Amino acid sequence: MPKDDTALPNNIFIGIGSNVGDRLSHLSWAVKRLGLFDELVLHRMSSVYESEAHTLEGSENQDAYLNAVVWLQGDISPVRMLELCMALELERGRARQEGMEWEPRTLDLDILAFDELRLMTTFLTIPHPRLSERKFVLAPWNEIAPGFIVPAPFGETVAELLTKCEDFAGLEKTPFQLLD
Ligand code: AMP
Repeated sequence: MPKDDTALPNNIFIGIGSNVGDRLSHLSWAVKRLGLFDELVLHRMSSVYESEAHTLEGSENQDAYLNAVVWLQGDISPVRMLELCMALELERGRARQEGMEWEPRTLDLDILAFDELRLMTTFLTIPHPRLSERKFVLAPWNEIAPGFIVPAPFGETVAELLTKCEDFAGLEKTPFQLLD
C-alpha cells in the first residue's frame, strides 16, 4: 500500500511512556518505528510530558516517566495494532513479569482509542479503560485531538475528559522533541 496523503480508514491514538534509561530515545524510536510500518501513517504527535510515576501505595519510588500521544492513521485491525505495539515493546527490551503491573517500563505502548470502536476481549480493551484517570494521557492527547469523542463508556471529548480528570500527580510539558 502506498504511504501517501490518501486518508487511511482508521484513526488510532497510542499513548507512549518510558521511565527507564534514555527515556526520550525510547519514545522517539517507538514513534519512528510506528511510522515505518506499511499499514500506518503518523498523522500527529504531541509534545513530550514528564510525569510522576503512578505506583501502588507502599511500592518503592520509581523514576518519572516521559509520556506522549501519537495519532496514527492506518488500514489495520485492532488486534494487529496490539501485536505491533507489543513487538516494539519487546524489541526495546521491556521485561514482562506476571502480576507486575507497576514495574518500571523501558517502553509502554497503549491503544487509547481506535475510531468509534468499543471492544472488550480478554486481552484487549478499547478504549483503554483507565484513560480518563490519567492526565499524562489526556494532556498530550488534548494537544493533538481535543475534539475527538472518546467512545463509550466515556462518550466525551478528550478536552472534556481532561477538564474533569482528578489526577493530581505531577505533570510537566518538556521542551523535548520526539523526532528531529
Ligand atoms: P500494560 O503494558 O501493562 O498496559 O499491559 C499490556 C497488556 O494489556 C497487553 O498484554 C494487552 O493484551 C493488554 N491490553 C488490554 N487493552 C489494551 C490496550 N487498549 N492497549 C494496550 N494493551 C492492552
